[in-house]
Amino acid sequence: MTSRQDLILHNGRITTLDPGQPDAQAILIREGVVDDIGIDADIMARAGDETVVIDLAGRRVIPGLNDSHTHLIRGGLNYNMELRWENVPSLADALRMLREQADRTPAPQWVRVVGGWSEFQFAERRMPTLEEINAAAPETPVFILHLYGRALLNGAALRALGIDRDTPNPPGGTIERGPNGEPTGLLLATPSAFILYSTLTQGPRLPVEDQINSTRHYMREMNRLGITSVIDAGGGGQNFPDDYDVIQRLHEDDQLTVRIAYNLFAQTPGEELSDYERWLGMTEPGAGDAMLRMNGAGENLTWSAADFENFLEPRPDPAPTMESELEPIVEMLATNAWPFRIHATYDETIDRFLTVFERVNGRSPFETRFIIDHAETISPRNIERVKALGGGIAVQHRMAFQGEYFADRYGARAAEATPPVARMLDMDLPVGLGTDATRVASYDPWVGLYWLTTGRTLGGLRLYPEAQTLDRQTALRLYTHGSAWFSGEQDVKGTLARGQYADLAVLSADYLSVPAEEIRQLSSVLTIVGGKIVYGAGDYADFDPQMPPASPDWSPVNALPSPAERTAALQPETQFARACHDGCANGCGLHGHDHQIAWTTPLPIREDAKTSFWGALGCSCFAA
Ligand SMILES: [Zn+2]
Ligand SMILES: [Zn+2]
Ligand SMILES: [Zn+2]
Repeated sequence: MTSRQDLILHNGRITTLDPGQPDAQAILIREGVVDDIGIDADIMARAGDETVVIDLAGRRVIPGLNDSHTHLIRGGLNYNMELRWENVPSLADALRMLREQADRTPAPQWVRVVGGWSEFQFAERRMPTLEEINAAAPETPVFILHLYGRALLNGAALRALGIDRDTPNPPGGTIERGPNGEPTGLLLATPSAFILYSTLTQGPRLPVEDQINSTRHYMREMNRLGITSVIDAGGGGQNFPDDYDVIQRLHEDDQLTVRIAYNLFAQTPGEELSDYERWLGMTEPGAGDAMLRMNGAGENLTWSAADFENFLEPRPDPAPTMESELEPIVEMLATNAWPFRIHATYDETIDRFLTVFERVNGRSPFETRFIIDHAETISPRNIERVKALGGGIAVQHRMAFQGEYFADRYGARAAEATPPVARMLDMDLPVGLGTDATRVASYDPWVGLYWLTTGRTLGGLRLYPEAQTLDRQTALRLYTHGSAWFSGEQDVKGTLARGQYADLAVLSADYLSVPAEEIRQLSSVLTIVGGKIVYGAGDYADFDPQMPPASPDWSPVNALPSPAERTAALQPETQFARACHDGCANGCGLHGHDHQIAWTTPLPIREDAKTSFWGALGCSCFAA
């Protein structure tokens, strides 16, 4: 079909999130927007000779998901080079993937595992050791990023980078050394993540043609998960306009399959103000169109404001000079009516930001939205201050990955409202959901929806009491219409109603009724962006647009099922009779908490679906 053809989806269970008509059976899409929506008989009566008609066979349809804080543009440039451990159920599997990828990676390329995983997702519930990484990859450089906390490098990577006994520690970072003074391969953010990122950027980059291909494959992975929009929070090394060439080119070639609103991230410490002065002369909020548009400043406005969320380390205080650097930047943005967003993990940091914002607002009242990003420990008082200034909070599932560390350091009680999403909603604050992928958390939105609706981490630790969790419909609303506010598009997307963008996902199972543990196994079987089918699987595979294979040809994307390719794994019979079950019942000692996760994580072990890749046993605790 072409995007010009009318499209009818019927015989479905459509959650519209439109209060005027919350449920529907059928939808007519014309010229990229919802032309009509309602009961089957009414919509089918509007089918013409040229209309493409798709039977939903009772499936659940939702407005397309919108990740309001992610780093898609940078992530896309690197996706084809990265080995992703998202949703991998055991460390044994993760290490096997590492070994196989090392074998297929040609010199001088590296194997990179750049975030998106937590040791608590593994049945073994532990990190890989440096010995294991060196054994898996004796020759090929390996860089493994774990949250914002540490990186594990094998010997080949240390050699490639020239890190040896004489290499000094960078400020705020530690190169761990053994008793002989030699670096072990462990790099620690103590607390600055600079050591991790500056090391990562020393690896080879992909040529631009591969970056284009890589971005397409990454967007396809988003579409597989039901994502149709994201807001990109910029990133270190993601400089405007140079590092936006690839995404612009894809846009010009009509190859974007995710709508992107992007923020401009100050790049160089000490030059933040001049970055924004320059960008103010080059572009403006809303520049672009509905597929790719500029969304203002952030999430870094000034480096001195960064408080990295590494819960293995004590809370860092931004430098005393922070206010004097932040204030002129916020003033300039406010005067020019630029929306802005700012990274802030802790209430103490947010408190200081708000004092600056209130001062600026007194002189140059904010005419547009601003966004506090993350806000894990924000206090009720500061939620009120955000609201009074007309701001919103973009929440991500980072606690699903490191809630265990937070609870260890600050106690289970403190973790109960971290972040206080229910409180934000009670106070009627704009709230959007997202991931903060790809370096810390997984890009998988279903992990986030699972986390907020069950209150559990990826490792199964119950963080939140019932009152702090959200019902499924509310969580979904935040992930769609809620996020749309963060790019100023709440009037055109996030619900399925007449005139709204035809962005939707047909789900692999019914989000609203599946058992809670199955929420994070969901994916899309049909994804539509602006009336165009961008992804189809299973019954809808015939509609799936053709994609070139991932390049370069050694990419893990070609060799391994992606973290979202799990529909083949949705087989309840594979989820019990696990070795772990018996082993743990008899006191395996490796599994501290509830580790139901190890049994319910999707395991594609069916013979006809990329067999034996994950191994038949998600938990190998029995072998320990
Ligand atoms: Zn951030
Ligand atoms: Zn971020
Ligand atoms: Zn066990």
